[in-house]
Amino acid sequence: MQINSKLPNIGTSIFSVMSGLAKEYNAINLSQGFPDFNCNPHLLELAKKHMDANFNQYAPMPGVQPLREVISELLQNCYGAIYHPETEITVTAGATQAIYTSIATFVNKGDEVIVFEPAYDCYIPSIEVNGGVVKPITLEYPNFTINWTTVKNTISDKTKLIIINTPHNPSGTTLTEHDLIALEKLVVGKNIIVVSDEVYEHMVFDGKLHQSVVRFKSLAAQSIIVSSFGKTIHATGWKIGYVAAPKELMVEFRKVHQFLVFCVNHPFQLALADYLKDESTYKGLHQFYQAKRDYFRKLISTSRFTLEPCTGTYFQLVNYKTISVEKDTDFAIRLTKEKGLAAIPLSVFYSNQQQQHLLRFCFAKKEETLERAAEIICKL
Ligand code: PMP
Ligand code: GLN
Repeated sequence: MQINSKLPNIGTSIFSVMSGLAKEYNAINLSQGFPDFNCNPHLLELAKKHMDANFNQYAPMPGVQPLREVISELLQNCYGAIYHPETEITVTAGATQAIYTSIATFVNKGDEVIVFEPAYDCYIPSIEVNGGVVKPITLEYPNFTINWTTVKNTISDKTKLIIINTPHNPSGTTLTEHDLIALEKLVVGKNIIVVSDEVYEHMVFDGKLHQSVVRFKSLAAQSIIVSSFGKTIHATGWKIGYVAAPKELMVEFRKVHQFLVFCVNHPFQLALADYLKDESTYKGLHQFYQAKRDYFRKLISTSRFTLEPCTGTYFQLVNYKTISVEKDTDFAIRLTKEKGLAAIPLSVFYSNQQQQHLLRFCFAKKEETLERAAEIICKL
């Protein structure tokens, strides 16, 4: 049979590759981003409660009402924005489905989509599968900042979407208010939709505010906000996320959403709705992860790696230029196989695989895991 691949240049995701290798070589896994500690037992009790109460059939297509209400409250509490649960919020099967659905909904064949690289791995394939044309812009090292003049010059009549991500995976940096104002100036009045991936919204450090698109009224009016509860509740395997967008955009989003998944896991949505009524479940998260960031950075401060700035997410970038001149993919594989520590190489997030000698470590781990990892790191 002749298969005409829609993604001829795409292999298996780096997250599967590195986690698989970590397992095979029994290495400490700081590669794929997930906690190695369990979520709150209360959340598990709530899920069981709803399963026992027989909420085991299909949920409503846009998500259960109590969870959409809680999301609406969250957006108001955190950012002062009003999104109506009925018409402007949809619960998704994680952020991955939310991003794919947003792209599938709005990108027509030949439409251009601006993405910033290093780019989280699902953006580009989702654009390509849907016939879009990727316009990559490189973030400027070392702070992975956006050059807004370049963005201005890249926007054309064909630009349909711009995908932004703050706090940013894989770099661990965050956009500033100035960035969002610059973006707003560039897109308002144009037929461009912004997809804002904010899955690490509650992990911004050092007293800074998360610059959600929803804080900027004119920008929000043409934006789709994507988030995921996986990070917030320490349960990435629950795969529940959400989108918030103005009604006109949401009407179209739901047309596609209903045929991609129809709806999302019912009892777990109800458990989340109960759990997230208590604001402290998400409002203290930045302190929790800032403490982990600080601990990890201190543990590896005497190593030969250079620590890059980390202002958000649960990822720490390190530069290994003084240790090896190997390609980052080779170095990451050797580190896993020979030294027992798995990390993510950064070049895979660039279309041109550019080499910066950077690795990404996930610090969403127990102290003892970070200590064992640091022991290896400091010996290199
Ligand atoms: N966007 C970014 C930036 C991510 O890091 C992730 C995964 N952690 C996702 C989207 C996908 O989230 P989910 O697991 O909820 O699909
Ligand atoms: N977002 C997670 C990370 O960046 C991985 C999610 C996945 O495995 N697809 O590591």
